[in-house]
Amino acid sequence: MQEKPLVILNDAVTPTQLLTQFIQVARTQYHQLRIRDHFREDHPMVARFKSNRLHVSNATNGHISYGIFPTITSFSSSCVPNLHPHWNGEFMQLRAVQDIQAGTRLCISYDIGALLLETQARQANLLKYYGIKCACQVCNGGEAEILKSDWRRKSILPVVMDKIGPEKRQPTKTEVIISL
Ligand SMILES: [Zn+2]
Repeated sequence: MQEKPLVILNDAVTPTQLLTQFIQVARTQYHQLRIRDHFREDHPMVARFKSNRLHVSNATNGHISYGIFPTITSFSSSCVPNLHPHWNGEFMQLRAVQDIQAGTRLCISYDIGALLLETQARQANLLKYYGIKCACQVCNGGEAEILKSDWRRKSILPVVMDKIGPEKRQPTKTEVIISL
């Protein structure tokens, strides 16, 4: 499945700056955007921005761009996601990164850049930037499960680089996620 962003915004998150960007969104669509609990105290516009966004491109003019994707951001968060949101410049496309049995809950990582961090740091990032308290199998697992996962994440890059072989390029996000 794929979703076109309602609007693409940069991280200049003062309400006035956001207003000039959100103005392109129809009023009803704007009011239907979710506000996650973590952002309830923020300005409603900032809260909607942070609660419905996915990263689309890196900094230009010092700003990082995010698309507002009300449907894809309704998917559960997971630190071992079975879907990978891939931005093709026009649409965010969800691609499977593992075989998915019928009836399995579909989940994405909201912060792919943080997937290799240890559990505590990953959870802190998700809450701060996306308002998400991750309740995935790893985050909800016991201490042993978390230790095992943290160790895997720490040692994963050399494993992926090894698979890539002599090319010596940086692994893609998809290659890293598949190896989780
Ligand atoms: Zn998690």
